[in-house]
Amino acid sequence: MTRLIFLGAPGAGKGTQAQLLAQSCGIAHISTGDILRAEVKAQSELGLKARSNMDKGELVPDSLLLDMIRGRLSQADAVSAGWILDGFPRNVAQAEFLDRLLTDIGQKCDLAIDLHVPQERLVERLLNRATIQNRPDDTEEVIRRRLVVYEEQTAPLIDYYQLEGILRSVDGDRELAEVTHHLEALVK
Ligand code: ADP
Repeated sequence: MTRLIFLGAPGAGKGTQAQLLAQSCGIAHISTGDILRAEVKAQSELGLKARSNMDKGELVPDSLLLDMIRGRLSQADAVSAGWILDGFPRNVAQAEFLDRLLTDIGQKCDLAIDLHVPQERLVERLLNRATIQNRPDDTEEVIRRRLVVYEEQTAPLIDYYQLEGILRSVDGDRELAEVTHHLEALVK
C-alpha cells in the first residue's frame, strides 16, 4: 500500500512521473488538472465554473475540489491499492482539508514528494510543451502567472510537509528515466 502526494511547480514533470510511478506501483493516479480538464471538455457544471480560473492560470476555488477529492479517495481502487495525488493539495487550506479527510476515512499519506526544477528551466519546458499539447493555459503570460501562483500558494506546502516529517525532495532537472528511477527507489 502506497499513498503519495506529489508537489512541484508547473513544468516540473509531476504529471508524467506520477503516471509512470502509479503504473509501476499499481496504484491510482489522481490528477486534479486532468479531472478538471475533462470536466471543462464535457461542459459540466463544475467544468463551466472552473474554466475561467484555469484559463487565467489561477487556482479554481477550493470548494470545487473538496467533494471531488473526498469521492475519489473513497473509490474502491484508491482504498484497496493506494494512490498518488498529483496537483492536490495546492494551498495550505487544501492540505489541512486533506489531513482531516484522511483521518476521517482512516487513511495515512506515506510521503510528500517535491519534484524540484529551477525556475528558468520550468518556463523553457512549459513553452516547449505549449507547442506540442496545445493546452489553453500554456501561453507565456499564463505560464508566468501559474509560476507566481505556485510560489505564493503551493510552495509553502514544502514546509508544511517538512513539519509533518513526510517530505522528500527529488531533483527533477535530469533525464526523465533517471528521475523515474530515483522516485521508484524512494517509494519501493
Ligand atoms: P500544472 O501543469 O500547472 O501543474 P495542472 O494540470 O496540475 O497544471 O492543473 C491545471 C490547472 O487546473 C491549474 O492551473 C488550476 O487552475 C487548476 N487546478 C488543478 N488542481 C487544482 C487544485 N488542487 N486547486 C485549485 N486549482 C487546481
